[in-house]
Amino acid sequence: MSFSDLGLSEKVLAAVAATGYTTPTPIQEQAIPHVLARKDVLGIAQTGTGKTAAFVLPMLTILEKGRARARMPRTLILEPTRELAAQVKENFDRYGAGQKLNVALLIGGVSFGDQDAKLTRGVDVLIATPGRLLDHTERGGLLLTGVELLVIDEADRMLDMGFIPDIERICKLVPFTRQTLFFTATMPPEIRRITEAFLHNPQKVEVSKPATTAVTVTQVQVPAGREAHEKRELLRRLLREAKDLKNAIIFCNRKREVAIVHKSLQKHGFSVGALHGDMDQSARTAALEQFRKGELPLLVASDVAARGLDIPEVSHVFNFDVPHHADDYVHRIGRTGRAGRTGTAISIVTPLDQKSMVAIEKLIGQSIPRAEGDYEVNADASEQSDRPREARGRDRERSRGGRGKPQRGGRDRERSHEPREPRGERPAAEARPAAEAKPAREPRPSREARQSSEPRHGSRPQANASHVPSIGRPEPRRQREADTEPGDHSHLPAFLLRPVRSSPAGA
Ligand code: AMP
Repeated sequence: MSFSDLGLSEKVLAAVAATGYTTPTPIQEQAIPHVLARKDVLGIAQTGTGKTAAFVLPMLTILEKGRARARMPRTLILEPTRELAAQVKENFDRYGAGQKLNVALLIGGVSFGDQDAKLTRGVDVLIATPGRLLDHTERGGLLLTGVELLVIDEADRMLDMGFIPDIERICKLVPFTRQTLFFTATMPPEIRRITEAFLHNPQKVEVSKPATTAVTVTQVQVPAGREAHEKRELLRRLLREAKDLKNAIIFCNRKREVAIVHKSLQKHGFSVGALHGDMDQSARTAALEQFRKGELPLLVASDVAARGLDIPEVSHVFNFDVPHHADDYVHRIGRTGRAGRTGTAISIVTPLDQKSMVAIEKLIGQSIPRAEGDYEVNADASEQSDRPREARGRDRERSRGGRGKPQRGGRDRERSHEPREPRGERPAAEARPAAEAKPAREPRPSREARQSSEPRHGSRPQANASHVPSIGRPEPRRQREADTEPGDHSHLPAFLLRPVRSSPAGA
């Protein structure tokens, strides 16, 4: 099957050819003909499957006929985060270069005035996050009665972020007769209910969930002590000694941990950016751009901020924290080893993470080799000295098994008060931070504040470490070996190559 068999217009085919894509991905092959036949589509697919082009390409073909009217967009795409919205716009810019379409982005953190001016000129494609879109409709600056085609993307993430009531409101503002394209990676009951309510006789297209990890990714788990400072020291060592490390994403489970690890790595001379839901938009965009361009080779990120982002060619993924949900592991390590390239995924595993590791190994159907031996980390004097005295005292007590011992089922007591960033497949109320669990309906600013992707606690200054030329301070490196084959562990740090103990999955 080639793109020319799908019914796309000549202009769109030329744009696809210009990008160098020769074969449609399974979701494109299945979805594009239905979209062009103006049918509703229920697409069960994750990012990384080519699903953005699966709706962008046929939309461009459809939009070649007709014109936009002021304040009445012809098509509407809803995205859960600003980054994903911006990424979809990039797709329109890339594939629609030969067409004179007006594409507008309605996301928080950007002035209403500029967005209003765009809407007044008339837009063919409106890409929006739900909160900002409803703000515009409530102000009377936007009418959705001209929408012919509605795309709801990443619906299960919308659920996670508490956007479902907004989605329902928006679905009632667009004409009943519109075409709807609905994409979700999973089908929890709440999402099923929405599809039953708002899709008309949809064509279901499903591409397999990448519950298996790419064979080109070398995975390893490195045991660590449970204290965060020990994990940070181990991380630095892994970063310094990793072979062929071009760039890396370091995943943490919590926003606060992202900020701490980011600051700590900066302090130790690493060129590193951060990405989490509490950062202001300009800091997020800047960090992502610098990482994409290779100016900042390291990015510390939370799942919710990084999920779905198209970041090409990551050589390493580090799990500073083992994710609590196994499918997050698959998402994280899917950032490396893309398109047949080799990649390395290193997880720092504390004794408290054993249960999560068992679930991960069960999901991916393989055991993750464990590095043994020389990974013991001594307390780092420099970092210890920066830590509050109480915290150091608590660490000492913990190591003696005293009062500060972690609570049953949890890690750090103070951490347990910190909301986790939301993730898929959990009930919205549980997934949402406490402040968001009860959505306030009245004051306009609060809607935007409800978007957990948007800044609610003000911006955090992002120190720019781009003047540091290399990934970290120069460290004596082991002699590099010749290029390695997929699955060949020789490009891992030598101390990870001590005898490997493999256990059967789920053992
Ligand atoms: P998505 O799932 O939309 O986030 O797309 C994932 C990646 O696949 C993006 O980098 C796209 O540019 C790329 N992509 C989309 N369609 C194709 C295709 N037919 N062939 C190769 N790469 C593609």
